[in-house]
Amino acid sequence: MKKLAKGKAVLYWMQQSQRAEFNPALETAVARANALRLPVHVGFALTAYPGANRRHYRFMLEGLRETERRLAARGIGFCIRQGPPEEVVPALAKNAALLVGDVGYLRVQRQWRETVAQRVACPAVFVEGDVVVPVAEVSDHAEFAARTIRPKIHRRLAEHLKPIRPVSVAVPAVGLAKRSLALDDVEAVCRRIGADDSVPAAAGPGGGRAAAIRLLDRFIGHRLADYAEDGGDPVRDGCSGMSPYLHFGQISPLEIALRVGKSDAPRNAVDAYLEQLIVRRELSMNAAWYNPGYDRYDTLPAWALRTLDRHRKDPREFVYSRAQWEAGATHDPCWNAAQAEMVRTGRMHNTMRMYWGKKILEWSRSPEEAFETATYLNDKYELDGRDANGYAGVAWCFGRHDRPWAERPVFGMVRYMNANGLRRKFDVQAYLERWLGPDAAGRLV
Ligand SMILES: Cc1cc2nc3c(=O)[nH]c(=O)nc-3n(C[C@H](O)[C@H](O)[C@H](O)COP(=O)(O)OP(=O)(O)OC[C@H]3O[C@@H](n4cnc5c(N)ncnc54)[C@H](O)[C@@H]3O)c2cc1C
Repeated sequence: MKKLAKGKAVLYWMQQSQRAEFNPALETAVARANALRLPVHVGFALTAYPGANRRHYRFMLEGLRETERRLAARGIGFCIRQGPPEEVVPALAKNAALLVGDVGYLRVQRQWRETVAQRVACPAVFVEGDVVVPVAEVSDHAEFAARTIRPKIHRRLAEHLKPIRPVSVAVPAVGLAKRSLALDDVEAVCRRIGADDSVPAAAGPGGGRAAAIRLLDRFIGHRLADYAEDGGDPVRDGCSGMSPYLHFGQISPLEIALRVGKSDAPRNAVDAYLEQLIVRRELSMNAAWYNPGYDRYDTLPAWALRTLDRHRKDPREFVYSRAQWEAGATHDPCWNAAQAEMVRTGRMHNTMRMYWGKKILEWSRSPEEAFETATYLNDKYELDGRDANGYAGVAWCFGRHDRPWAERPVFGMVRYMNANGLRRKFDVQAYLERWLGPDAAGRLV
């Protein structure tokens, strides 16, 4: 452990938890800075994140612009610079007594933290804040399924379901940070960093805490009570819409869980929501943490690999190329509508995501190609893509976190889904009309 340096400030390197509230890494930095009678500075490295395009940068920068204001109101400095964290953070930490960081579960995030910790002269501590129960506290291995991780999470839930109180800043940071990018015009920042602009900005609510809280208030006030019944219906849209905000750390899962837990919604609705927000989401974090190949086909469970391999030569009724998938040009209006929703809004309802992924498996040349196509499209268009949850979601379509089902062509024993299943759940015609227009009437296959 490096010795506490004689620095001029404590630096919080913000990466995963891009917020000024309910952020344990930030509060740790403030408490440690207070003890040293030093100010806190937050540093952010605006890097070329693998696979990110203008849609993602814009959403993230909208959030960071707001975070900068909220930090300033607490007397905390903020500096955002263009460049990879391995270069930007050690430069910002040159005069720091201590570096505090947050925790990310993906390979690139872990690699950044390792390199940064090696390159700074001061000690570095990392504080986990984007799950309710810290991943290593829950389990020491990749869990098999929701049913195996659920009791482990529930055992520890009460001790973690507590608010994080903001620590008052003893020594406010003064003046503007040197060479910080101005965030007033996020489009200009996107141009400056050369963000890939092949994907237009997403239609729908923008990024940032205020937008997240507005959606959450509306969800708790009007939809939560019916979540157990309507949560699976893409037309009624009974979900919270929190995933892009969670992905960029613009809101904390703990804050959402506490707000939902305190609501007067019926117990079954609250439980159904917390099952998704905590158990299912944290199963994905567990999968990424303990399985570094989380986004690779060959890390699927052995039974799934075996059965998909046995059926790889089965004739496919349709076979689409990546370009056809991307253009939403399949024979299936349900699939095309889901793709249209994602391309336009950067969002897709969970029920449609499952169907969407299953059909890519069914109508691709090979399961490997299907896996790559689904990951590519999800990461490119979804605002919440490039997330442990996305990699687990795609892998689920191919058997991860699931069990073998009755054997059938192409899928083998991997769970199958069809459009009749959708019709039983919701008004498919209304969904098609929403995303494909009124002409979609009567085009159901
Ligand atoms: C093929 C496929 C791809 C997916 N890609 C992503 C992705 O890139 N990013 C992502 O965050 N989620 C992904 N999911 C999981 C899920 O579809 C989304 O988290 C959910 O639709 C987000 O909408 P919401 O916030 O309104 O959810 P709500 O129903 O309001 O749920 C609240 C929160 O619980 C968590 N949650 C909900 N459903 C799931 C689930 N099935 N698995 C894990 N966590 C869940 C999310 O964090 C969500 O924000 C994917 C699922 C599949 C099948």
